[in-house]
Amino acid sequence: MTNTHSPAPTHHHPHRDIHVRRKNRRRLIALAATALVLAGGATVATAVGPDTLRETFRETVGSTPPLESKDDTAQTGHTDHAPAPDAPPVIHRVDTDDRVIFVTIDDGHYPSEQALDLVTEHEMPVSLFLNADPVRLHASYFEEYIALGNTVHTHTLSHPDLTQHGVAEQRAEICGMVDLLKERFGGSGAVGSLLRAPYGASDGNTAEAAAACETTAVVHWSGTAEDGKVSLAHGNELVPGEIILTHFTDDLPANLQQIQQLADEADFTIARLEDYL
Ligand SMILES: [Zn+2]
Repeated sequence: MTNTHSPAPTHHHPHRDIHVRRKNRRRLIALAATALVLAGGATVATAVGPDTLRETFRETVGSTPPLESKDDTAQTGHTDHAPAPDAPPVIHRVDTDDRVIFVTIDDGHYPSEQALDLVTEHEMPVSLFLNADPVRLHASYFEEYIALGNTVHTHTLSHPDLTQHGVAEQRAEICGMVDLLKERFGGSGAVGSLLRAPYGASDGNTAEAAAACETTAVVHWSGTAEDGKVSLAHGNELVPGEIILTHFTDDLPANLQQIQQLADEADFTIARLEDYL
């Protein structure tokens, strides 16, 4: 397992990260509030809502500090140094020598037909990490991905920062979403056993909660694609096992195209994450 970290400058200090993260959170609240005012109702929010804004901002900047630096031990009574024996591993990149990378798509708010066309055309394996509202709204859209052989996984019901909650609440969020996926898509056998924690924020409670619904790995990422650009945690060159984070946003087609191009140029294959984890 490679304990890499989402795209962020190397040589950064954990405490500085925390500071940045808190600062970001304040900005996010302001952003979300602005978006709410601008959206003026739920109709727009289903396409590109405050959650999408917040998600893209925080997950893309990769502002989550290293697990060890999180000062939540007193709050939760758990540390990340002694995970339960059956705790799923936390992964940022797949440990492999194969020239493969993996594409993950999160949330589900914006059901881009163009993205679906690209996935179909390139026969691109993608792993979907979904929340409850998008699944309820766009179930038939995700069924198209499933029909292509792709798998859906839990990204929690309501996209909270799990580290702000105890085991029971985390379990309800993580396992509740697994239940919903099985209810909607279970017949197709397309519901997988991976978890992506919202914002890439997980702690010892997350592992314990996820183990309760047989989660086999907590999957973070080693690269992101946004606005048609790919950012990697390790520099500009793809390395084997790279996990790329994207979202169901209006720039998803451009992002998928850029990932495919990057893979082609470097002679990498986009492989199926579930075949490796
Ligand atoms: Zn998300």
